[in-house]
Amino acid sequence: MSDDKPHILLVEDEMHLARGICFNLEQEGYLVSHVESGEEALDKVKVERFDLIILDVMLPGINGFEVCRKVRELDSRVPVLMLTARSDERDRVTGLAEGADDYLIKPFNLKEFLLRVSGMLRRSAWYRPEPIEEGYHFGDNEVYLLSYRAKTRQGEIDLTDLEVRMLSLFFQREGEAIPRATILETVWGYATDAETRTLDNFIVRLRKYFEPEPSRPMFFQTVRGVGYRFSRK
Ligand code: CA
Repeated sequence: MSDDKPHILLVEDEMHLARGICFNLEQEGYLVSHVESGEEALDKVKVERFDLIILDVMLPGINGFEVCRKVRELDSRVPVLMLTARSDERDRVTGLAEGADDYLIKPFNLKEFLLRVSGMLRRSAWYRPEPIEEGYHFGDNEVYLLSYRAKTRQGEIDLTDLEVRMLSLFFQREGEAIPRATILETVWGYATDAETRTLDNFIVRLRKYFEPEPSRPMFFQTVRGVGYRFSRK
C-alpha cells in the first residue's frame, strides 16, 4: 500500500452491517477492503497482504471456519477476528481451533468492536521476540520466534502473530504465574473479564502443539485463580 494505514479485510455478507463496519473502521483511519464471500476473501489473500481479517462465520459459500483454515495455509501470521452467532459456544471453540485469534459475538457493541480491532493491530516493541536465532527449546519442541516457526513432535508448524506474542510473553517470564488480565492485554491488546474463554481456548491450542499429553500439561500450566505459568521443566 502507498501509505501506512493498517489494511483490514472484512468478510461479511450482510450488506447493512458491512456498510456500518466499513464506515466506522474508515473513520478510525483504517483502510478497509470488503468482500461478501469466503471465496472472494481467499482470492484477495492470495494477492494482497492484510494487517487484520474480520471474518463472519455464516457466509453464502464456504463458511468462515473453512476460510480461516485456508487463510492459515496462505498466510499463517495475519490476525483473524471471527464474528459468531450469539448462542453458539461451539462456534467460538471451533473458530479458535481453526486458527482464529479472537471472536466477537453478534450483535456486538461498536465500542467493544473497535477496541478489539485496535488491540489486535497494535504493534508495540516490547513483546517482540528477543533476537535468539538458535531457537527456544522445551521438551521435544524448538520454537523460532523470529521466523514464526516451530518444530514439534507433530512436525514443523507455522505460528500466527498472536501465538508468537503469547510465546514471547511466556518465554520472557518463564516460571512466573502470569495473571489472565496481563496475558489478554499483552497478547490481544485489551483486558476484560467478559472474554476469558478466548484465552483458555488459545491455551488449549498451544497445548495441542507442544504438550506430549495436552490434557496433562507440563509446560503451559493453569494457575488456579490467577492465570497461566510457562515452565520448561
Ligand atoms: Ca453472515
